Order: sequence, then structure tokens, then C-alpha cells
Amino acid sequence: MNNKHQVTAIALLSSGIDSTLATRLILDQGINVIALNICFPFENEKADYAGNIAKQIGVPLTKLYTGEDFIKVVQKPKFGYGKNMNPCIDCRIFMLKKARCFALENNADFIVTGDVVGERPKSQTLKALKLEESEAQLKGLILRPLSARLLPRTIPEINGWVDRSRLMAIRGRCRKPQLAMAKNFGIIDFRSPGGGCLLTHKEFSEKLKKLFDYKKDVTALDVKLLKFGRHFHFNSSKIIVGRNKEDNAEILKLKKPGDYVFELIDRPSPITLLEGVKDSCTINHAAKLTAQYAGVKNEPVDVKYEYNNQVNIVNVFP
Ligand code: SF4
Repeated sequence: MNNKHQVTAIALLSSGIDSTLATRLILDQGINVIALNICFPFENEKADYAGNIAKQIGVPLTKLYTGEDFIKVVQKPKFGYGKNMNPCIDCRIFMLKKARCFALENNADFIVTGDVVGERPKSQTLKALKLEESEAQLKGLILRPLSARLLPRTIPEINGWVDRSRLMAIRGRCRKPQLAMAKNFGIIDFRSPGGGCLLTHKEFSEKLKKLFDYKKDVTALDVKLLKFGRHFHFNSSKIIVGRNKEDNAEILKLKKPGDYVFELIDRPSPITLLEGVKDSCTINHAAKLTAQYAGVKNEPVDVKYEYNNQVNIVNVFP
């Protein structure tokens, strides 16, 4: 990285409390900070938390959208999964690599993260932090302001760009020190601590595992669809049945050319999407599932299905 000064840092800002405080601590030392928010297909958020936090602490923000590049990491993580399909160590290396490229593009001097030693059992141990740093080729260039005084000195501290004595020595899972700091700084409205992305959820992980078995080149659109409806694998096809109005609307938005859409005629009905092979047996099965989740019992019912603006009707007995 470069020798010009005004010193510049790239802060990985997730909009959670840790990365927000870490960014704020470095801003307070007069460093020029650019926040980078990496957006994953496995997040489930509608609110612009990162934008909101960046405004609150007064830092310019760049959003970087990831898709198939990150899905490939999830399909085959070098360092394995956590409890569910969350490859946290690989994910963090992926983010650091993106931050490194962004730093090079912006002539920045070092990277800031909200890591807290021991906060997460697998990805925030001393050993894991060291591993992540070396895999991302950022040795000595990642400053973790919340735990900095527990960690070896980094290049920004050695060079005197950052005053180590004004950094923190927080360790462990209890977020009380961070909440107190946030109160002091007057920072509100950050994303609530704990949890993780959808990959840490059991039900979502099961759906994803089945999707990886069913399809080799999984796209960001496939992953988006996983967030809505009940998912069934039938022969070489996939059937997705909406669970509520929101699911129905999203499924319609996400349908691809060639997908069939099923719905009951003249009564409340879920929207069902059929992807893959569309033989008569699969069409019948998709129609039956539509009728079943519409609450039809022991009576024949007409289900319409549409493709290429052409409407067909199939009569089924769920
Ligand atoms: S919880 Fe999700 S976003 Fe967070 S590090 Fe793990 S895989 Fe990445």
C-alpha cells in the first residue's frame, strides 16, 4: 500500500454494532475512512442499515454486491462450515480479499474491521484471525480497533498513524462494553447484535443443501427464490409454493422465462412455480400441491397454469 499521507483506511461496515464502533474509533483519530459494505445474496434485509449507520457516523459508504462468486465459496468452503451452511472463516476471507482490492483501487493504507477476539467461537479466535489475515494477504494491515490492545501491533500502529492507547481491549461474547460505547457516541439504530446471515439458519440451510444437490451452477436468483415459499424437489424439477401474499408476489417477480405458474381458479390460492422438466406427471404434481396448500380436501378442483401467456387447466384431486 502507499506512502502518501493523508492516511486512508477502508472500514468493513456491516451495520452491526461492532463494525460501527470500530469505524467510529478510527474516524476519531483523524484518519480518512471509506466504509465498504459487502452485500451477500444470503442476507434477508430490506432496510438500508449500512446507509443509515454511515450517515450517523459521517463516513462515505460504498456498497459492493456479491453473487455467484460468493455462492461458489459457500458450495465448497476451504475451511468448512459452522453449525449449518455458514462457512464463516471462508466468508470472512472473501470479504477481506474484496476489501484488499478496494483498498488498492482507492490507494488506501490499511483495513479496519469490527472483529472482537473470542466473540464467535470459530471465526474470531486468535488463530482464525491470523489465518484470515494471511489468506487475504493482509499481514499487519488489518486493524481491529475493538480488540487491538489484545493483538500484535499492526502497521498503522507501528507507523504512528493510529494511537494504540486510544484503541480497545474487548474480548468475548458479552456486548455490554460495546452497548455502553454506542450510548456514549450517541449511535442508535444499528442492526441488533448476534445472529448471522441466513446461512446460520437450519431451515434455510436445508433448502440450500437440496438446491446444491439439484443444480450445479446455482445463481443469485436461485438463492433469492429460496427465501420465499415451500420448496419441493420432484424428479428433475423444482416446485415452489407460496406461503402467503408476500411469497406469492416475490415468486412472480423472480420467475424466469420458461417457468410455469400455477394457481386455483376463483378461490384463494397460493402461487406455485414449476422449474425444470415439465412433463404431465410433474405438472399434475405441481397442481396437486397448489390445491393442497390452498386447503382443498377430498374434492376435484381446477388449477390453471400459465406459460408464455398461454393458460391451461388441469383438474386434480389433492
Ligand atoms: S454469519 Fe454469514 S455473513 Fe456472517 S461470517 Fe458467517 S457466513 Fe459470513
